[in-house]
Amino acid sequence: MPKRALITGITGQDGAYLARLLLEHGYEVFGGVRRAGSENSWRLEELGVRDRIRLVDFELLEESNIKSIVDALKPHAIYNLAGQSFVSTSFNQPLYTTRTNAVAVAYLLEALRQGHPETRFYQASSSEMFGLAPSAPQNETTAFCPQSPYAISKVYAHWLTVNYRQAYGLHACSGILFNHESPLRGLGFVTRKISVALARMKALGETAPVLEVGNLDAKRDWGFAGEYVEGMRRMLDHERADDYVLATGRTHSVREFAGAAAQALGYELAWEGQGLAEQGRDRRTGRVLVRVDAANFRPVDVDALVGDASKARRVLGWESAVSFEALVSMLVAADFDRARRGLPFL
Ligand code: NDP
Ligand code: GDP
Repeated sequence: MPKRALITGITGQDGAYLARLLLEHGYEVFGGVRRAGSENSWRLEELGVRDRIRLVDFELLEESNIKSIVDALKPHAIYNLAGQSFVSTSFNQPLYTTRTNAVAVAYLLEALRQGHPETRFYQASSSEMFGLAPSAPQNETTAFCPQSPYAISKVYAHWLTVNYRQAYGLHACSGILFNHESPLRGLGFVTRKISVALARMKALGETAPVLEVGNLDAKRDWGFAGEYVEGMRRMLDHERADDYVLATGRTHSVREFAGAAAQALGYELAWEGQGLAEQGRDRRTGRVLVRVDAANFRPVDVDALVGDASKARRVLGWESAVSFEALVSMLVAADFDRARRGLPFL
């Protein structure tokens, strides 16, 4: 009998990569989708796994739905990837963010404690929990100093996962993942936003709109999502449950990301001006490619994050191999191809 895994948030970036990986490892994969009527499975189709996954109705906000799915499937492993994943949205929707990212994790863990204590559980925690971190690089022992309703909701879910492991002996792991990107990344995140906008400019010329961003100084530790799901799998397959940071150990600013993306498309960005007046111009043609727009700033931002994944390397044998430059090129190449072929950006 193959092992059964339930992936919540299977229609998201990580859900799609993890589904493919678990299928390769012989799992029977069940994917939780909300709104069965309007299924959003383009990422699963892109990876060629849509037909090999069994989709089940799954709504994080519905406790009875969570309990009945877990009771019916009796999965060996649950990867809880579902959530309200946009930091900026969380400032406008703090209660919704709290219910989906925090309270729902209590529903899940209670369903396991009460009926399925042998099921292994993975919680998608985030480097945003470190926020204004007191030290760098951040690891599993660094204090959390969250700066958004999103980060605060993730801190609750993280500690609840730790608590259910310690109090009830559940095999529950919290993966503290630094930003990870791919051509399947949501369009609202800054990496994909940059990649799509510059690729469209290259493919469509003057008709494509200028890229408008916010805080160009923000620094993130960006890795490739396809590698990070392997870290998640190793956490749950390990005999002892624990918490792990997954990161590359390198950090770059949004300005650097935009510069590298432009370069990968044959532009050479030169920056001029300060603050809201800063803009990035192509040195050769003089065309303005990037502008700063106040609407893209957050009420509070996290200035810089960089992770120390040495525990994951030591215990799980996991490390990230895709470089920053390779990651940027991967996103840009995929989006340029889409733009050139006139395909929609999803
Ligand atoms: P995505 O935004 O791509 O995917 C989120 C998934 O959650 C989607 O499948 C979405 O479904 C689902 N979802 C949202 N709300 C609900 C709900 N109420 N009920 C059921 N399903 C819901 O996120 P990622 O794949 O990038 O990230 C996966 C997880 O990892 C998230 O929890 C995120 O916060 C966390 N994380 C991600 C990082 C990253 O860099 N990618 C870094 C650290 C943590 P639908 O398609 O219907 O919207
Ligand atoms: P996050 O780290 O999960 O919030 O990932 P994002 O990709 O949404 O944001 C990463 C950083 O880029 C944050 O510090 C943002 O403030 C910054 N940023 C700058 N301009 C933008 C923008 O236009 N969109 C987004 N999403 N982020 C931006």
